[in-house]
Amino acid sequence: MSYPMRRNDLLLEFSHLFFPAVCMVCGAQLVHSEECICLRCLYKLPRTHNFKQRDNAAELLMAGRIPFERIASFCVYAKGGMLPPLIHQLKYHRQQRVGFLLGRLFGEDMLGSDFLKTIDAIIPVPLHPRKERIRGYNQAEVIARGLSESTSLPVLVGNLSRILFNPTQTKRSKTQRWENVKHIFRVNEPDLLAHKHLLLVDDVITTGSTIEACGIALQECPGIKISVATLGEVF
Ligand SMILES: [Zn+2]
Repeated sequence: MSYPMRRNDLLLEFSHLFFPAVCMVCGAQLVHSEECICLRCLYKLPRTHNFKQRDNAAELLMAGRIPFERIASFCVYAKGGMLPPLIHQLKYHRQQRVGFLLGRLFGEDMLGSDFLKTIDAIIPVPLHPRKERIRGYNQAEVIARGLSESTSLPVLVGNLSRILFNPTQTKRSKTQRWENVKHIFRVNEPDLLAHKHLLLVDDVITTGSTIEACGIALQECPGIKISVATLGEVF
């Protein structure tokens, strides 16, 4: 696996002599201890800290749609804000290290909190295999690996699968939407996840339909509990 990039990677250090690394947000030259984002910008990240807050906006969005324990987002994803260009770099410019970094920072923020207390494992929202082949990686898994680095929780990949490539999400009734989303994901071996408390991880939560579809598929597992963590929230 190519991430995390090691700061002591000699080759990387050498390349920085000729191509100094710059902050992905403000473009300032990074100093030795900084990675992807300069300290000034890190400090200004619009963190929600909503893992400390029950009935936060994400939890209200998902209430009644799937059974869940807790939901939290690392930052606000606002148009013109700091997060959208970083997520764009992660998804479309192969900048896995920024996803790993943000996931790791999110985990550090939540360390020791009630939010993480009973979580057994992290499960990234899967991409359809064809899409993952095209992109070369799953951005949600990159974030999950970062979260795992700081929390020491294991990442489970392969059991939850995306089986539908491109579902139609238009204006439908609640029943029609249920019919539409319940076949997007599948759990291959439900018994392996039985009675576990899983942290479902994705890049951004917008309408919540992806999380809802995963949550519905995961109900196949006896006694499962689900919490959700995303880097950004759009509301
Ligand atoms: Zn900066």
